[in-house]
Amino acid sequence: MIAGQQFVPRILIAEDSALCRKLLEAILANKPYELCSVTNGREALDAFAQFRPDIIITDWMMPDVTGVELCRQVRKAQDISTYIILVTQKSEKEDLIEALDAGADDYLTKPFDAGELLARIRVGCRTVQMGREIEAKNALLEKAARTDHLTGLPNRLAVEEFAAKQLSAAIRHKFNLWVVVTDLDKFKLVNDTYGHFAGDEAIKRFATILKAHTRAADICGRLGGDEFLIVMSHGNKKAIVQTIERLRADFADEDCSLNGQQIPLTASFGIAGYDGTEKVTFREVLTRADHALYLAKASGRNQVRAHVRNAVLSELVPVARP
Ligand code: GH3
Ligand code: MG
Repeated sequence: MIAGQQFVPRILIAEDSALCRKLLEAILANKPYELCSVTNGREALDAFAQFRPDIIITDWMMPDVTGVELCRQVRKAQDISTYIILVTQKSEKEDLIEALDAGADDYLTKPFDAGELLARIRVGCRTVQMGREIEAKNALLEKAARTDHLTGLPNRLAVEEFAAKQLSAAIRHKFNLWVVVTDLDKFKLVNDTYGHFAGDEAIKRFATILKAHTRAADICGRLGGDEFLIVMSHGNKKAIVQTIERLRADFADEDCSLNGQQIPLTASFGIAGYDGTEKVTFREVLTRADHALYLAKASGRNQVRAHVRNAVLSELVPVARP
């Protein structure tokens, strides 16, 4: 349900007796519900998948699939947001326990009172709606827990999780995967000179440029502070280095004026990858990318360095010089 939209509960009636079914339909007619009636348990299972009811009102004794079996099947489908009311002639305590254990939320014995049925349906609607609201809030919380507040990019948790999953897929299916660690140059100085607010704006500008250079299938995120991570798959090393070099140059050329002041901003980049052959962990790839970044910083900043397999650090050459 979209926020602000009126909740019109969908109710599925499963009842093999034509008389009882007509009675239920008559009680629910002209009420603010969307109705679907079926005559046996099998049809009820189909309707559960197609109609996605919020509430199921089901008879217990039905040919083929019984009401209790229907409850079990609905719960087996991991559906906890459908409220199930069993309507039956059985009234022994053992029957009640069996129905509730099978997944029924409520229980009415025949003959039932129309007013009581409607009241129980309202309880079901409230429960379903509350569940939906909790689900929606949980989804928002989940998103917030994985999003960097300042830039709106995925945060360290989200980007590292994505990278680790992509690396497993790359090893399994033998495709290339590249990890790029990037960090703004002399950023403390930017904060000290132009103030923390201008620093925040600079971080946001960098994030926008990173996003613009990242393909939909790839990801970039903020690791924290002025450090970001890009994960790219499938490209060969030359193409990745060219892409990152373009990104570096675009950012260095960006006219970054904040509060009427021109701020010189650059970033350094370290690239490491999985080339479809060697078995590595994400931590190892990240450490290599960090080493390459360290070298980019040590060699003067505003440049791109790539990890070279088996090379000692001192042998690494810059892949691009400004
Ligand atoms: P280097 O070129 O070696 O990276 O130098 P640097 O000054 O950028 O050093 P470093 O990356 O270690 O420092 C990052 C600084 O970023 C430290 C902190 O003051 C600043 N910073 C971290 N998070 C934020 C933030 O959210 N907003 C702002 N404005 N500054 C931040
Ligand atoms: Mg920095």
